This record gives sequence, structure tokens and C-alpha cells, in this order.
Amino acid sequence: MCGILGVYNHSQAAELTALGMFAEQHRGQESCGMAVSDGKVIRLRKRMGLVKEVFPPHILAEMPGHIAIGHVRYPTCGAANEFNSQPHIAELFVGTPFALASNGDIVNYSEVRQRLEAEGVNFNSNNDGELLLKFLVFHIIRKELSPEDAIRLLMREIKGAYSTVLMTRDTMHVFRDPHGIRPLVWGETEDGSFIAASESCALDILGPKFKEELPPAGILRIDSNGCQRFNADAALYRDADGPRHCIFEHIYFSRPDNYAFGENVYTVRERIGAALAAADKDLCPDGVMPVPDSSNFMALGYAKAKGIPFEMGLIRNHYVGRTFIKPKQTVRDESARQKFNPLPNFFEGKRIVLVDDSIVRGTTIGKIVHLIFEHGAKEVHLRIGSPPVKYSCYYGIDTPTRTELVANKYSVAELEKHLGVTSLRYIDLNALKGCVSNPDEYCHACFTGDYPILPKEIQ
Ligand code: SF4
Repeated sequence: MCGILGVYNHSQAAELTALGMFAEQHRGQESCGMAVSDGKVIRLRKRMGLVKEVFPPHILAEMPGHIAIGHVRYPTCGAANEFNSQPHIAELFVGTPFALASNGDIVNYSEVRQRLEAEGVNFNSNNDGELLLKFLVFHIIRKELSPEDAIRLLMREIKGAYSTVLMTRDTMHVFRDPHGIRPLVWGETEDGSFIAASESCALDILGPKFKEELPPAGILRIDSNGCQRFNADAALYRDADGPRHCIFEHIYFSRPDNYAFGENVYTVRERIGAALAAADKDLCPDGVMPVPDSSNFMALGYAKAKGIPFEMGLIRNHYVGRTFIKPKQTVRDESARQKFNPLPNFFEGKRIVLVDDSIVRGTTIGKIVHLIFEHGAKEVHLRIGSPPVKYSCYYGIDTPTRTELVANKYSVAELEKHLGVTSLRYIDLNALKGCVSNPDEYCHACFTGDYPILPKEIQ
């Protein structure tokens, strides 16, 4: 999971991009980067670390320009290092340089890379974003395709998830894969600046007067003549068999103030909470509380539906970051305990419903349940806002092997025991589908194994 940002036609493009990247920091905390054009040169800076550390004001002041793209990275494919960080830049002997930032993973990465390498194209990293960039540059420069035709060809030949911004010294393109797996929005401000972002909440703080989601297989070209939209290639769209948005953006990844796939994320989370409550007809707890923060609105939905108090018994240390997006298990273990602390004397004798968005590896939730019982709770009924995660994601989320997923090791009854909870219940897949307006337009592959694009490993 990563976040992207693009700004066109703003005198402080770097500052705006940094603000937007900061709003998307939850999507990636390992590294970040930015490319800025002043019309003559593209300056690139990318480092390991958080946006505020990598882009303090004095650094932004050294990146003048009116066009910028940015990226926050959580590594999925490729190691966590600066080479694999984005944006990637292709500086050419002839013609304009290109820079690109993308969110998502490419399923046929090796096959496309081998084809390009056979044509003499060199790679500096193992990152999907570089593959997209080199594919486009090869077809624009060597095959003399227009950027739009090169993007359409990319959409036919490169399979997977990609929400992408591409810039030259004076143009920007924004495009999205035919399944629209990862979110992508764009907008225009009163004074004629264009902004594209992974999440609408990044746009909100930059204040566009107009915004919309870029449709799957959609392409925008922004240049000195303004913004031109290219309709999705009908054949591409048909071959993709319609959109397959990632349902986990609603469950966990996105901020609750994001508007994704035609829905308010917080509303979907409240519906999930209500659906969990509906399945708990015979349970009368003293209160319901979330594992903060991604489960807050689910617990709120549960409390409203059941008419019981919404409690905040766990305090989260926000400086620890998101546990799921810590790449190493040892780091995850350590940060889980540092991250949550129970309120003193809060749990004594209580029967609590604890809501969490998902169980992936089971590391964090096991520690939390143990902590709550240690602090005197009588019963902990764990409710999960997703069905059991049993299959790996190949579209930008780090669940590389099925053996890591706790739902493959234990049945619900075994996991109940393993975690030491009084009871455990997941939301049912059909109930989850009932929480969004167009359930057939979503990917549910990590619950069902029904992948919209089959990865090579299981073909
Ligand atoms: S497999 Fe799961 S996490 Fe990956 S895109 Fe599909 S729904 Fe999202």
C-alpha cells in the first residue's frame, strides 16, 4: 500500500505536494519522494523516512517549480531502500525526462521486465513503478507512440493494480488500471491548479472547487492548455470485466474521511459495525470499544445499532505508526505493545465487545486481548469487520504467503482459544457486501481466492 500525489500549475507545487503526502502518510511510512519541474529541469529527492523528516521547509524551498509528483511508500514487492522508492525518473540523452509515481503491484512484472530487457532497457530497482515508467518511455521514445497511446498499450499489456501520475517538464498524465483496484481522485482549484491524489482527504486540505474519482482505465492529460480527459478504452474495460475495487480500502487502508469508490469510508465502516451488531442478537455487553483508530467507526456503528455505550478503553500512541504496515515481524511485535495502553481501572469487571477491522497475522490483537484481561475485564467478545483473510493479496498489500495468515492456521473456534477471547465472530461476506452500494464491483479475493487477475503462482 502506498500513496501518490500530483500537482500541476501551482507556484508552490512542492509545498502542496508535501502537504498532500503528509495527509496520505498512513498509506506508507518507510520512504517518500518527490519530483518537481520548473519547466526546465526536474529535481528529484527520495529518502527513507516520513514526509516531515524528508521534506522540511528548507528542502522544499530548494525545489522550485509548478509541477510536482509525490509518493509515500510501504514496500510490498522489492526491498525497503531508496532505489525502490518512488518517484522514478528516466533521464534521456534525447528528449524530455519523465518521472512517475504509482500505487499498486504488477502481477506480470517479471514477464514484462524480461521483454523490455531483451530490447536493451535497463533497470535500477525491482520496483513496479520503474517498470511502468520504463515501459512508457520505451514506447514513447523508441516506438514513437503518443503518451496516451503508450498508456493504453500499458493497460493492455501490464496486469495488476496501478493508480499512477506521470510527469515531464511541462505535462502531467494521471491514469488508473482497468479494474480500478486502488483509489485515485483528482480536482481543480479556483485558480486553475490541478491536483491528483490517492485519497480525497488529501485533496480536501488543498481545497479544489471540483473533484471526482478517475474511472478505471481513465486517463487525464494536463498541460498548458488545461485538462483533457480520455475515455476509458471500451475494449480494455470490457476485458477487465468491470471494476474490482479493493474492499480493504473501506475496511482498513483508507482514512475514514476518504471518499472512495463512490462511498464515504466512514459510512461503510459504520454499516459494518451495524452488521456485526445485527449478528449479535443475544449478546448484551456493558459497552463496545474499537481497536483504535481504523475500527473506531465500526465500533460506533455497533454501539448505535445496539444502543449500548461506545467506549474508548485503549489509548493509542500515534507516534508508533500502523502496525500492519511495519514490514518486519519483529518490529510489528515490538510496536504492538508500545502502541496501545489501557485506561487505568477502566476494564474492572466489564463485559466488552472489542471491534477490530481484520485479523491478518493475529500478532497485535492477541497482545491487546491479553492486556485487557490483565486489566480486569470479565469478558472480551471480539468482533471482526472483515471475513477471515485466507488468501494473499497480489495488488499492493503485503501478505505474500498464505502461511502467514492466521485464518489458515486455525478455525474460528481454535482462534478463539488461541487468542483467549470469550467469543470471536467475523462479519459474514454477504453481510459485508451489503455494506457497499455495488458489491460486485469489488475485489474480495483475500477472503475467497477469486482473483480478478490471476497471479502466475496459481495459474
Ligand atoms: S486481495 Fe484483498 S487486499 Fe488485495 S485488492 Fe483484493 S480485496 Fe484488496
